[in-house]
Amino acid sequence: GSMDPTDLNALIREYSNLAFHGMRANQNPINVEINLNLDENLGLIPLNGEDFSRVILNLIKNAFDAMRDKISMVGSDYKAKLEIRTKNLANRVLVEVEDNGPGVPEEIRDKLLIPFFTTKKGTEGTGLGLSITHDIIKSHLGTLDIESSVGNFTRFKIELPNSKT
Ligand code: ADP
Ligand code: MG
Repeated sequence: GSMDPTDLNALIREYSNLAFHGMRANQNPINVEINLNLDENLGLIPLNGEDFSRVILNLIKNAFDAMRDKISMVGSDYKAKLEIRTKNLANRVLVEVEDNGPGVPEEIRDKLLIPFFTTKKGTEGTGLGLSITHDIIKSHLGTLDIESSVGNFTRFKIELPNSKT
């Protein structure tokens, strides 16, 4: 696919909105708050918009699944929250997708990007979402990092070259 100068914030607004509204049609919907914290000085980022929209949707879908699990564990006192941030760095752009779900246990953190690795039961998970996500980010010469605190949050950090790189 082709790389075009893209309004990344607009792409994030569009696909987070799609995911939020799609949740209503889900078999097992959850009540989730989505906060966007987008740097308005991002400029246009060289992206394959079709591929990168899948990155955003994969990360949101995983966050929703994780927060749904937490609801079933801790009950309704918990309020599911997803935050997506963008930040313009010197020669890079940072994109963070963070949920306040169950977190990722230390012992599986290194396995998440491996094709077919899943902790989901039966046919719920293919284990391909994050490996495809990682491949797409690499095709943009970017990096993907995972930070998590068990019981508190999971944060996927993407860094991409910006138009000045
Ligand atoms: P799948 O969603 O089909 O299981 P993925 O490659 O998308 O496959 O994710 C792999 C695994 O990573 C998931 O099964 C889950 O254990 C873990 N994971 C991914 N995102 C999160 C998250 N936001 N919070 C907790 N665990 C996560
Ligand atoms: Mg997934």
